[in-house]
Amino acid sequence: MKIAIIGFGAAAIGLIDRIKKTDHEIHVFERSKDIYSSSISGIRADGKLFVSKDMGGDLNVDTDLQKKLVDFWIEKTGNGEYETGSSFRNPDYYKAFYQKGFQPVLSDFFHLGTDQLKQVLFNIYEEYRSLAKVNFHFNCPVTEVKLAGEQVSLDDYGLFEMVYVAVGRSGHKLIKAIITSYPEIILDSTRVDIGIRFELPNHIVEALNKEMYEFKVKYKSKTGYMVRTFCNNPLGYVVPENYGDFITVNGHARIKQKSKNTNFAILTTVQLTEPFNDPIGYGSNIAKLSNMLGGDKVILQTYSHFKNSKRTKNLYRVEPTLDSKHYILGDINLAYPRRIIESIIDFVENLDHVIPGVAAADNLVYAPEIKFYSNLLNNQTFGNLKFIGDCSGSTRSIIYATAHGYIMGEELLDE
Ligand SMILES: Cc1cc2nc3c(=O)[nH]c(=O)nc-3n(C[C@H](O)[C@H](O)[C@H](O)COP(=O)(O)OP(=O)(O)OC[C@H]3O[C@@H](n4cnc5c(N)ncnc54)[C@H](O)[C@@H]3O)c2cc1C
Repeated sequence: MKIAIIGFGAAAIGLIDRIKKTDHEIHVFERSKDIYSSSISGIRADGKLFVSKDMGGDLNVDTDLQKKLVDFWIEKTGNGEYETGSSFRNPDYYKAFYQKGFQPVLSDFFHLGTDQLKQVLFNIYEEYRSLAKVNFHFNCPVTEVKLAGEQVSLDDYGLFEMVYVAVGRSGHKLIKAIITSYPEIILDSTRVDIGIRFELPNHIVEALNKEMYEFKVKYKSKTGYMVRTFCNNPLGYVVPENYGDFITVNGHARIKQKSKNTNFAILTTVQLTEPFNDPIGYGSNIAKLSNMLGGDKVILQTYSHFKNSKRTKNLYRVEPTLDSKHYILGDINLAYPRRIIESIIDFVENLDHVIPGVAAADNLVYAPEIKFYSNLLNNQTFGNLKFIGDCSGSTRSIIYATAHGYIMGEELLDE
């Protein structure tokens, strides 16, 4: 069978790995100019691999398969170097958080580090490139996918018997074009996570970081919104993330070079109801308003000023890890809806009961930090056009995206 895979990220890798030993002719169309490109794949920062039933995506992925895929990624480092931890396997921590109303999320972590990811991706590519049936087409962005009877056409790249769209969240333009032609594939589109990146001296959370590397908790705040921690980076760095028409903030950690701080996101899940159907528009506009106030920079504020809605003019003890050219001291309250701010404050104040020092006045708050969910797409609509990984709306992590590709590969083999 002649198969096209659009995008070379985690989902495509899971799929190729499962079907690489078959006779199928595989064509990978990747818009980045080559494997070295800084824009290739979502697997560029941090490389934290999770084994968890409770996070990473809405698919049912057996933990044995998750662990198998973690081993696959670790093997591709070539040196087997990684950091690891388990969250909330220690019952004392579990109880301490639970008693204060938090829902601890159980998971195991394997951290490859930003500095290793390029090599990992390159090693995988080299292996697949050497296979006779796998053909890579770089610098080939796909802009149109059309059903043509039993086949599917991709721009001028020809006809394929089976097409897997694996363009991640950065491929939203292609997904939008496909949805416009085939609106029947949308199952759900109402969610967006809006929040802040929190940064504090590492010693405040050191014991927790040592115990579990990444602590993940959910909390139903007094506003009714669910709030959660996301992407904890012990001794890590805060970085800007450029979406083209706006800038948000993110965090990562390296395996070798370390800072003195820990950063993590605190996100509120905003789930709106009818007639709302544009979560990306909602989140983007909040980000744009924030950028407008910050002169196209990230807004940085101390926690006490964030809480009291005052513009920050000076910092005190905590030194930001984000380069000063990327932020401006300001007031996030001017850009964010009140209910989101109140939810975050409630979360931090409550967290301070479990981890004293978290709510210290001079800890740092950065905005905007926004996590977009792709529309949830229906993979049963068409037999020869499938969506895998983050662009399908079913995954949000490297392991779940890889697993999605792998499972779809398995389905193909069964057929
Ligand atoms: C800054 C950052 C840090 C992250 N850190 C982690 C982490 O530590 N752990 C974790 O589990 N997850 C992390 N994630 C999420 C993770 O990267 C994604 O969940 C995962 O990469 C999704 O895999 P995917 O294959 O669906 O998409 P991607 O890995 O994003 O791959 C999509 C590919 O499609 C290509 N593409 C897009 N549009 C087109 C087009 N029209 N034509 C052709 N090619 C196209 C892109 O260039 C890209 O190479 C992070 C995400 C970001 C943004």
